[in-house]
Amino acid sequence: MSHKKLIASSLTICSASAAWAMGTTNSHPVYSEELQKPITPFGKELIAQEALVQYLSPITAMADGNLAARVETKPLAYEVKQGDTLYQIAQFFGVDYHDLAKYNHLTDTQRLQTGQKLNIPILRKWIRVRMGETLESLAEKYQITKELILHLNPELQKSKQAYVGQWIAVPQLIDPAKSHKPNGRANQGKAKILPMQEKREAVAVVKQESEKQSSYVFQWPVDGQITSNFGWRNGRQHKGIDIWNAARSKTPIHSSLGGVVVRAGYAGSYGNLVVVDHGGGWVTYYAHLSRIHVHKGQKVDTGQLLGMMGSTGDSTGYHLHFEVRKNGQAINPLSVLR
Ligand SMILES: [Zn+2]
Repeated sequence: MSHKKLIASSLTICSASAAWAMGTTNSHPVYSEELQKPITPFGKELIAQEALVQYLSPITAMADGNLAARVETKPLAYEVKQGDTLYQIAQFFGVDYHDLAKYNHLTDTQRLQTGQKLNIPILRKWIRVRMGETLESLAEKYQITKELILHLNPELQKSKQAYVGQWIAVPQLIDPAKSHKPNGRANQGKAKILPMQEKREAVAVVKQESEKQSSYVFQWPVDGQITSNFGWRNGRQHKGIDIWNAARSKTPIHSSLGGVVVRAGYAGSYGNLVVVDHGGGWVTYYAHLSRIHVHKGQKVDTGQLLGMMGSTGDSTGYHLHFEVRKNGQAINPLSVLR
C-alpha cells in the first residue's frame, strides 16, 4: 500500500465512528475521559457507564492480559432464601438435585434452613461475547436460563444485555463423579447434558488451535470494550473497530498474529501507526498509539507488544483503532478474531 493511499483512506476513519457515536460532533464519547458527564442522546452514556463498571469489575481484571477463557477454581456459593427447596435451587442452577444434595452432604428430602450456605457444583467460566451473540443465544448455547446468566453476572442485571467483546461468566458443571462419589445417578438427567456440551467445546478448541497453524486466525490485540464497530456510519465507512480500555496509555497493544512490521510511525489521522504484514495478503493496522515499541522491518510473534494505547492523530480519546485487511481490502475484524 502506498503512503498516499494510506492517508487518503485514513481520512474517514475515526471521524466516521465519532459521527456514529455522537450524531454530528467529532468526538468519541465512550472512551472520552469525561465518563461522569452526560454525553449523548443515543444511550451511549449507558455504554460508557457499563464500560466503566466492567473495567472495575473482577471480570475485566481477570481477563486483563489474557485473551483465553478462564475457569474459576471454587464452586459457586449460594445462601438459602426463605421458601427455597433443594429441588428449586438445583433447577435454577441447572444441576441434578441428587447431585446437589450429595455435594452438600444432605439427604434428598432434607429441609433447608434460611441463611444456610450451599455449594453449587458449578464453576464460573469466563467467555468473551462474540459478534451476533446475545444473552438469549448464549443461554441456548449453554443450555441454561438467562436468569442464571444474570445471577452469575450481577453487573448485567441493569442492562440485561452483553456487548461484543465483553467477558461474561457461564456455568461449567463440576463432574460429580470426580468430586463426590455418585451411585449411578450422576449420569442421569440434566447433569449429563453439560459435560457433553463441554466435551464438544473442548474438541472445537483443539480444532481451532490446529487451524491457527494453517489458516489465519487473529488474536484480540487488546483487552477492552468495543466502542465502535466496523461498517458504514452516516455515509462513511469505518474500516476497523475501536477498542477502549480505561487503563488508557497503560494498555499494551499486541500483534494479532506473527508477521513483519511494514510500517511504524506517524501516519496522519491514524496517528502513531503500526502495520503488520502476516503474509498471504493479510495485514493488520494498530492506530492512535501513544508509544510504538517496534520498528519497520522487525519480525514479530503473535501477541508481541507493538506499543501502547493512545489518542494520537484524528482521535479525541484513548482507544485502539484496529483494522484487518485482506489484499488491501478492509474486512470486519470480528469475523477473524478469536
Ligand atoms: Zn476507529
